[in-house]
Amino acid sequence: MKIMPPLRKAALKQKIAKYLLKDKDEAVVNWSIVKKCMLMLILAAAVLLSRILWKAYVLLSPELWQWVNVPLMKSQLALNALSFLLLLALLRLCHAGQRRRWVQLALPFLSVGLFVISLCREGYLIGILSPAAMISYVSLVAVGLVLLPRSIVYSAFIPVTLYLSGCAYLSYANVVPYAPLFHLESSSYSNAFWLLSMLWFIAPILFTCLALLEILLSQWRHREQLIQELSQTDPLTSLFNRRSINQRLEHLHQNAGAGYALVLLDLDHFKQINDLHGHNKGDEALIKVSAILRQNLRSSDAAGRFGGEEFILILHESALDQALQAAERCRSAIQQMELLGEDGHPIQVTASFGIAASSPDMRPQQLLTQADKALYEAKACGRNSVRAYLAQAARPAAGI
Ligand code: GH3
Ligand code: MG
Ligand code: MG
Repeated sequence: MKIMPPLRKAALKQKIAKYLLKDKDEAVVNWSIVKKCMLMLILAAAVLLSRILWKAYVLLSPELWQWVNVPLMKSQLALNALSFLLLLALLRLCHAGQRRRWVQLALPFLSVGLFVISLCREGYLIGILSPAAMISYVSLVAVGLVLLPRSIVYSAFIPVTLYLSGCAYLSYANVVPYAPLFHLESSSYSNAFWLLSMLWFIAPILFTCLALLEILLSQWRHREQLIQELSQTDPLTSLFNRRSINQRLEHLHQNAGAGYALVLLDLDHFKQINDLHGHNKGDEALIKVSAILRQNLRSSDAAGRFGGEEFILILHESALDQALQAAERCRSAIQQMELLGEDGHPIQVTASFGIAASSPDMRPQQLLTQADKALYEAKACGRNSVRAYLAQAARPAAGI
């Protein structure tokens, strides 16, 4: 078996992640309103088709005629078939003219209106208070609110609610028949035909709405995660940003157990790199240094960008000598880092390091001040070096 080299593997992983992200960003919520309305029209057509199939099946099964109003069923079947054809024609029209202004303006009202009319009509025919009518009502309002502007959804569903309530009252007052499509003398809940019909009406709407809500929720979770990551990372280097580092330090302080060490590092004469080779080259140097820091730390440690060309390392459960070793590893790797100028000549990048190790009850801010003093010492001693702060001497001490 051929083994993929790690670099190609990483590139492939990145490609897949990028593809998935792109895919997720194109999920239903981000669709244009025309596309969303066309989805609604397709769903409406699917629901209508299921009703047509049900009516055709009943009309082809004489043994079921005792439970239904056959003449009404026939006229409704013809009406449903006509509505289905009209829906398909409308879909075709919208697909062809989806970039036209009038389609973009009228389609939301048209598609919601059609849904509403069919909900009202079918709801009245099968019984306003039947499980199918109720579940359709709740599911469609929920999906409508997630997909479309609230003003459109409310402007449609307020009249629907009034209509359904009015129908329920008129049926109660015996002004209009209740569920005129069915002939049910006894309790409908003991009638298998009625129960199965309800199930047939409910299943497609419920499953479609659940699937849509699931897609919407997974996109929402994905966005939450993305926002969380973005709020914690520095956009140029992908290291933790200063806010995230401060939170980590505070957390470490509050859960003071094992000691930790802080390393501050600052690139040497970085302004010269910008001045001589341009800001983009400077950015490239920052990105490369970040990669080196990441490679040379344990997974339990954290690296962050503290300011322009200043970085911070949090080394968990590390005493001063372990921190000195880690910092020296990074210093040496940065010194050997390959960075070529536009003319092809190598650009030398080095960094100075200041280290401080925690002691009980010491606040992170105090430790930062100590690491900063040690860094100042490293700069003063000629740069490209590592210095640690020694508490006994109450001043930064020489390191490596
Ligand atoms: P020293 O050795 O004393 O640290 O010298 P220095 O030149 O590194 O320090 P100085 O503070 O004088 O300059 C830091 C430079 O870092 C200046 C600023 O333009 C540059 N810088 C800060 N942030 C960025 C960045 O995001 N990208 C680039 N390319 N440069 C940056
Ligand atoms: Mg500097
Ligand atoms: Mg600096």
